[in-house]
Amino acid sequence: MKTSDATHDRRPLEPPELVYLKGETRCHYTWSTGEVVGSFLGALRDHARILGAVCSGCGRVAVPPLSYCEECCSAMEDYREVGPRGVVMSWTRVAAGFPDAPLPAPFRYVLVKLAGADTSLLHLAPDDERVVVGATLHPEFRKVRRGAITDIKWFVPDESAEERTREQ
Ligand SMILES: [Zn+2]
Repeated sequence: MKTSDATHDRRPLEPPELVYLKGETRCHYTWSTGEVVGSFLGALRDHARILGAVCSGCGRVAVPPLSYCEECCSAMEDYREVGPRGVVMSWTRVAAGFPDAPLPAPFRYVLVKLAGADTSLLHLAPDDERVVVGATLHPEFRKVRRGAITDIKWFVPDESAEERTREQ
């Protein structure tokens, strides 16, 4: 490392070696989710209900809500409750954990088309052999909710009629 005494060094300046300062910058910030996403997250947090946006042009219902329709580009300004049950449209099994995974492995990612919706919601499910295309799932809401998609812990299989009969 070079040291200098600037008050006595009158030599012409030469380009310095690169100077590095080590440190850490942390940014804590809060931002508005906006009306559309805020309506969705607020309904999850305050009512444990799932909202979709309704297209003013073609009537399509998008979940999570969008501000415009991806099919006809009309505004989606109204909201409608959907689900809570939905059908698995696609799924994949996560066998090994990875950094910041939403759950310890194994678990499943699922695309769930909720009753009354025209789009599918990407979410989580237990690694249960009943979680396959065509299965009916329902959301398991957390008791303490903070206005995030994780207010739904995951979607779990509906009990079969046989299981319900056994429990009665
Ligand atoms: Zn539309």
